[in-house]
Formats: sequence, structure tokens, C-alpha cells
Amino acid sequence: MALLEVRKLSRVYDLGGEKVVALGGVSLDIEAGDFVAVMGPSGSGKSTLMNLIGCLDRPTSGSYRLDGIAVETLDADGLAALRNRQIGFVFQQFNLLPRADARTNVELPMVYAGVPPQKRREKAAAALARVGLGDRQGHRPMQLSGGQQQRVAIARALVNDPSIVLADEPTGALDSRTALDIMALFQALNAEGVTIVIVTHDPEVARHARRVVRFRDGQIVADERQEPLDARAALAELDGAAAA
Ligand code: ADP
Ligand code: MG
Repeated sequence: MALLEVRKLSRVYDLGGEKVVALGGVSLDIEAGDFVAVMGPSGSGKSTLMNLIGCLDRPTSGSYRLDGIAVETLDADGLAALRNRQIGFVFQQFNLLPRADARTNVELPMVYAGVPPQKRREKAAAALARVGLGDRQGHRPMQLSGGQQQRVAIARALVNDPSIVLADEPTGALDSRTALDIMALFQALNAEGVTIVIVTHDPEVARHARRVVRFRDGQIVADERQEPLDARAALAELDGAAAA
């Protein structure tokens, strides 16, 4: 059984009588431990799929199982609980609370999960250390670079030990070196067993995934495995070239 089993999933938006088929009956399996890049033109249904598998939205038809749980059978509370426990989200614009420091931002999903304060602090500190920001716990987003803010967001995504991390254009707001740095972090986390799905329009970014799924007009048009490019090595090469 795959970690994620998507079957004939569709999502149709009704805009005052006009129907927009955002997702047209997509089937897809994702195994635990995989690292998938979802590509495709703007409007092809990538975010719609992410919102469905992230339990943020409900399909018009079709079904999907996450870790064996038939998601479409859950009510709103069940969906929220599953989302909080199993899914880590990373967004293009980081979505951090501007007035809260890094630690408080990372603690947030644990507040919803009812983790006691002392435990929250410990786990937030550990998650920040895991993304290389152990010494930035008291910094607010404004006091951090874009890459560091995305690392805080990734720590927040990891803190409840989700079974899958969903990242929609996580490098879209970053320069290319910082994007590579974030991809190196995702690769390191994937090597530790974290299952990752990222949406990107950037072929360079997609080169670091193990599998590339391509969308067009709400359908999957290609699904291929590849030998991922090592982001850490690419970074070292970039820095070597800059130093020479
Ligand atoms: P992508 O992420 O690949 O750019 P989306 O999944 O956001 O594409 O959108 C797929 C299609 O669904 C687009 O045609 C878009 O206009 C439409 N769509 C997305 N969200 C909504 C919505 N909330 N209401 C109506 N149409 C939507
Ligand atoms: Mg999108």
C-alpha cells in the first residue's frame, strides 16, 4: 500500500453557472520516502491537487487514501486532525506570523495539537536545529533572510513529524543560490526518510527530486523517475566558482 493513493480525483469549480475543471480525474500513488516534483503550466491544477492531498479542500469526485485512511469519509474535524498530524505545509511566501519569533512560529502546529508548553519549546528548538537555525530561535521573520524564513517554515512543517511534506513553489520567492540551499535541505530531510512533494515551475529545482509528475489542463501528462542532482554538490561547485 502506498502512503498516498489518489484515485480519479476531480475538482470542479462552479463560477456562477460556468464550470471550471481544475482537476479532471487524476490517479497517482506516492510511496513513503519518495521525493516528487509536480510541474506544469500556470492553471494546470497543481495547487488544486496539493490542497486536496493536504486536506485543505474536498474533491468533487474520486477518492484518496493517506496512510490507509479514506480521507473523503472524514468530517471537518477529522480532516483538520488528519491534516495537523500527517501533513506539513510549506508555501512560497513562507506564511510566518510576522510578530512572533522563530520558535513561536514553529510551536504553532503543536498548540493546535495540544502539546504542553515545555514539550513544545523542546520540539521547536530541535526542529529549528534540524534546519540549521538553532541559534535563531528568538529572531522574528523580519530579522531573517528569505532563505532563513523558509527554513523556519520547513521546521514548522516538520515539528509534528508528519508523514508527508507538501511544498507549493517553496523556492518561488528566493534567488537561485538560496533555492539550491533549500533544495539541499529537502534532500537531506528526504535522506532521513521524510516524504516530500513540491510544486515548481523551475526545471532546475525539479532536477533535485527523484520523480517528476507533469500536469496539463488538470491531467497528468507525464510521470518519470530520474537520478536526482545533488544540491549540496551543486552548491559547493557554485561557491568554488565564486571563490576562483
Ligand atoms: P496551478 O497551481 O497549476 O497554477 P490551480 O490548481 O491553482 O493551478 O488552478 C487550476 C484551475 O482551477 C485554474 O483554471 C484556476 O483558474 C482554477 N481555480 C483554482 N482555484 C479556483 C477557485 N477557488 N475558484 C475558481 N477557480 C479556481
Ligand atoms: Mg499553483
